[in-house]
Amino acid sequence: MDQERIGKFIQKLRKEKNLTQKELADKLLVTENAIGNWENGRRMPDYSILKELCEILGTNVNELLSGERIQNYKEKAEENLIKSREQEEAYNKRLLALDNIIKIITSISYLALLYANIISENNINKYLFMILSIVIIFIGLTAVIRIETDAGYYECSSCKHRYIPSFKAVYLSLNKGKTRYLKCPKCNNKSWNKKVLYK
Ligand SMILES: [Zn+2]
Repeated sequence: MDQERIGKFIQKLRKEKNLTQKELADKLLVTENAIGNWENGRRMPDYSILKELCEILGTNVNELLSGERIQNYKEKAEENLIKSREQEEAYNKRLLALDNIIKIITSISYLALLYANIISENNINKYLFMILSIVIIFIGLTAVIRIETDAGYYECSSCKHRYIPSFKAVYLSLNKGKTRYLKCPKCNNKSWNKKVLYK
């Protein structure tokens, strides 16, 4: 909340109503000082008198707390929608970057264990390294598929429907990078579905 902006808005509305600070104070049963403090942005009106203040000034709580007249609610709503879409996109981008990091770490660990397996002369160690490499691949792959399922959506190449498939469907699907061969829940066509960041 921008207190200074709200203060200026209160002052503007008060002057539009041709009220002095004293007159407004008398109507609200507060001191003239209190009005001055609100208008300077030093203090906020108590919530208990916010509604009455709005009525006197011919505004509503939503406008007062925004510090401006809201002419076009639809425009405001759209603005908020775009903002949340941008946030979702940025979040999914970060998730997919994490996905790439896990892929690299998993690959390096796997290769290191494979190498350890090859150069090891002790049979027990050989088995141990082999089992560990399988475990690493399994954990890494599960994490990667989990992230790829959750981050963003897949777009059907036939009907352009965007959806989140099940974890199992993603796990069992063929892939070319982040594009996967999946069955669309809308048109039931199997095709290569690309990863998109928002719906
Ligand atoms: Zn489809």
